[in-house]
Parts: sequence; C-alpha cells; structure tokens
Amino acid sequence: MNVYDSARMAELLAPLGYCPTEDAADADFVILNTCHIREKAAEKVYSDLGRLNEIKRARAAEDKRLTLAVAGCVAQAEGAEIRARAPYVDLIFGPQTYHRLPELVARAARASGAVLETDFPAESKFDHLPDTRAPGTGAAAGFVTVQEGCDKFCTFCVVPYTRGAEYSRPARQALAEVRSLAFQGAREITLLGQNVNNYQGEGPDGKIWTLSRLIRAVADIPGVARIRYVTSYPADMSDELIAAHRDVPALMPYLHLPVQSGSDRVLAAMNRRHGADDFRRLTERLRAARPDLALASDFIVGFPGESDADFAATLALVRDVGFAQAYSFKYSARPGTPASALPDQVPDAVKAERLAVLQDLLDTQQRAFNERCAGRTLPVLFEREGKRAGQLVGRSPYMQAVHALAPKSLLGAIAEIRIVAGHANSLAGERLAA
Ligand code: SAH
Repeated sequence: MNVYDSARMAELLAPLGYCPTEDAADADFVILNTCHIREKAAEKVYSDLGRLNEIKRARAAEDKRLTLAVAGCVAQAEGAEIRARAPYVDLIFGPQTYHRLPELVARAARASGAVLETDFPAESKFDHLPDTRAPGTGAAAGFVTVQEGCDKFCTFCVVPYTRGAEYSRPARQALAEVRSLAFQGAREITLLGQNVNNYQGEGPDGKIWTLSRLIRAVADIPGVARIRYVTSYPADMSDELIAAHRDVPALMPYLHLPVQSGSDRVLAAMNRRHGADDFRRLTERLRAARPDLALASDFIVGFPGESDADFAATLALVRDVGFAQAYSFKYSARPGTPASALPDQVPDAVKAERLAVLQDLLDTQQRAFNERCAGRTLPVLFEREGKRAGQLVGRSPYMQAVHALAPKSLLGAIAEIRIVAGHANSLAGERLAA
C-alpha cells in the first residue's frame, strides 16, 4: 500500500513541476514514505533522515533548498518525536492527508519549523486525488487501494492507530481506477486493503458491495486477465468470497491469509477471533472451491506469553496446511498497543531461535512447492527484462518469479511457459514453441 500511496503522491506533485528521481542527491524534495508496523522499520526512518540531512546541509551551503518530508505511518504515530529528533524535517504528514500535498508544500516553503499534518480529516483523500494516472506508466501489474484502515484491534498491531478506521471506497471510484490502469496496459490488478476481504463499498446500484461483488465487476473490465487481493483477515472470509475463487477464472489461485500463530491460546491473546482449527477448516474450504489454490501467510513468533508448546502448535499448523510462501517476524512491542504492556515478554534470544526454526520449515515448504512446479506449463505475465541477455522476468499465477528467454515484445503480455526447474525463490522456464 505504501507503493500505491507513493505513486499517488508523485501524481499530486507532477502539476507542481516535480518528477521522480532515483537519486536523493539529485532531488529538490525528498519524501520518506514510512512504515510503523515493527520497530526496525520505524528506526530506519531516523537513520535515513540523518543521511538525508547531510545532503540538505551540503545543498544549503550552495544556497539551494532541499525540502525533506516524512509521510506514512511513522509520521502519523511519531510526528512530535520526529520534530524533536530531526528538527531539520520540513513536512510531516500521515497516510490520510497526502491529498493535501500541494497546499502542504506551499506551507512548508513559508514556515520556519516543520509543518505537521496528522489529524484524520473528515473528507476521504480518495475524493481529492487526481482521477487519471500519469500517462506512460503502463506497468503490466497495478495496485488499487479499495479499502483502508482497520477496526480489528489485534493486540500486537499499530494499524488501527496509524491508518485509522476501516473505510471502503465507492465501487464506481475503484472500478474507474481499474479501467484507467487497464487502459494503460495493466493485465493484472491487485485490490489492496488492510482488511480487503471486509470491503463494503457503496455500489453504483446504491447497495453495499462485498469484495466478491467487486471482484466480479473487475473481471468484466476489458484487458484485466488477473485479479488478486491483499491482505485478508481470516475471520472475514465469507462463503461468497470463497465461491468467487471457484467461479471467477481471473481470480488467481493464490491467497495471502495471515494466521500469525497456530496456538489457540496465543490467537485469543492476539484477539484474532478464530482458532487454529477454524483456520485449518477455512483452508480446506478454499481448496475445495479452487483445488489448485496455493496459500501464503504471515507469522509472529514470541508474542508475550508464547510457550514452547504454543510455538510447537504453530509448527504443527504449518505442517498441516502447507504454504507456498510466508513472511515471519519476531514479535515487536509497539507503543500504545495492549500486547506491549503484557508482563511476560519473550526474551529476544528465544524469539530468534523460534524464528530460525519456523523459517527453516517455511523455506522447505516454499522450495518443495517451487520444485513441484517443474514440468508444468504455467501462464506467465512478463513484467521486466532479466539480468541475462534475452531474458525476461515475469510472474506465475502463484506469484513466483519466472525467468525465461523470450522476446521483448512479450513484456506486458501473458505467455504459456514450460517450467524446467524450481529454485528456492524463483522458477526457470522455457517458451513453448509457437
Ligand atoms: N491486516 C493483516 C496485517 C498486516 S501487517 C492481518 O490481518 O493480519 C503485516 C504483518 O506484519 C502481519 O500479518 C504480522 O504478521 C506482522 N506484524 C504486525 N504487527 C507486528 C508486531 N507488532 N510485531 C511483529 N510482527 C507484526
């Protein structure tokens, strides 16, 4: 979602004469779009700011100005701290206020200290964003935020405090954005939200549309060949959405469904509102609807009070379900969240050991899944050139990177590729003879 937000910020700034550059030393304006989900991500902001301030000072010595901004969830959660620790920052704004960027830039040019904009506005930013994409972006795969914010209050998580309450964009607005991306050449659309499967946007018919209704409408848009959605909350997987996996061929057979833990005790303490067996049954129902479905997930190890037995239950769940891909993290105590105040925090050495064991198992499953793809023919959406001459890199329906020798004319297109080998993090393929 930060990638999506950054792209929208660039569009907002284009009319002011800004264009993107890869090199901060080249920039008149640097925006750090930040993540607050774990402490490591948040701390990185301050080290990056220190580095950027050196560029800013060198620029000032030449009587030139570098405007420095912090956006996103660290800005939202730690605005005052950023001001104190990095007083040279010009502009601090949260994820729900970036539509005001043109005005904020003007204010920052006049202000002596940092301009801080972290209130949750009454208006939705989506009603104030430019309604067309910058021409020429033309990526093969595009993101569209359709839902944002979270009302679940998992006890470990900052998202409800940084992104705010759940909000669903009207379907007409979301579909217009999909059409615009498809018009520019996107074949794959990923619908984004912190709880995207709880999408409840106003439909063009005045009724509330669910995610499955929205997916069916996206599938009807010319040019759209692949649909994905991320991230989902297990307790919100409805029968109707499971049925969409059976009925909508464009909906890719790959689902990221964070489970966090396999222990009922830990899941309850996390306020996840489902047990480990509920999750097992849910994955069975999904696979009954779409037999070739591959699952991905997120895990947290070392949640406060997690015992060896709780951790063993997580490993058991991973073995039972089998994942094609997963992200796993050491529990990170976040300011203001209920779990951060729990007494029985797990020592870092224990977290590190459990993480290594879990990642070993998940890596084994991922490699086995990739190896099982060898010999199959998969449709691959080619997105960029590879490192080797004549090579393109694309993605399979299961999100695997696929490398194959193919003409550049296939960039942005879907081609049938025979998979010859599965590796830890990618597949090697061959084009079928035409
Ligand atoms: N909406 C998703 C969460 C998105 S955050 C859900 O319902 O699960 C992405 C992942 O970061 C989470 O799935 C979780 O595994 C991890 N995460 C979130 N807060 C964390 C914390 N305090 N410590 C460690 N990992 C965390």
